[in-house]
Amino acid sequence: MPPSRLPRHAAAETSRSRAVLPPAVLLTSAALAFGGLAVLPADGAATTVKVTAAAATSSTLVQDPRVAAPSQKDFDALYGIPQAQPAKVAAARVAPRASRAKRTPPKVVAPLWVRPGVGHFTSGYKWRWGRMHTGIDLAGPYGSPIRAVGAGTVIEAGMESGYGYIVKVELLDGTVTYYAHNSRLLVSAGEQVTAGQVIAREGNTGHSTGPHLHFEVRIGGTPINPIPWLAKRGIFI
Ligand SMILES: [Zn+2]
Repeated sequence: MPPSRLPRHAAAETSRSRAVLPPAVLLTSAALAFGGLAVLPADGAATTVKVTAAAATSSTLVQDPRVAAPSQKDFDALYGIPQAQPAKVAAARVAPRASRAKRTPPKVVAPLWVRPGVGHFTSGYKWRWGRMHTGIDLAGPYGSPIRAVGAGTVIEAGMESGYGYIVKVELLDGTVTYYAHNSRLLVSAGEQVTAGQVIAREGNTGHSTGPHLHFEVRIGGTPINPIPWLAKRGIFI
């Protein structure tokens, strides 16, 4: 059986080259073996002081304060006993015990769909002022967060006539969502976004009469009513 498999006390008893013992270990071991006390003076020369048998067998070991006592690590290094596993491996060994202890561990699940803006619903997908209003309006405070409703890719982020500062996000299924009238844009074209990621700040740019988010959903380039589309995804305006 290799020393590494032996119990610590058994490994310590296997005799290997004493020549590699650190001085403090060697002297302490010698002191215990011969009923003496090892003392290392400052110049490093060792002397042995006789102590009584009772003192030698007692648990009290007098250590020269000028010499560091041999640590468990010294013994481990001496006899090739492996040290504690790296953190990653240790964590992997701990995890199964934790999951056994708690059979239903809590799961952190990122939301799939998120309301795009805060505030009141002020206008829907309908004919308005002689033209089609192709999205919904949510009026929140100026500067409030505008969030991607789902994961996707920013296909446009910039100024567009009527829309003002707009972000267009293509979702994973190809549906394109518009976020318009922003005061600030926080993403750029080509950027990947997650559901709920803040992509802009609410504003009043473009054709707008007050701070609000204009939100659109387009499938194949054609705008659809966002209200039922959002409701199917658990977002109720
Ligand atoms: Zn609008």
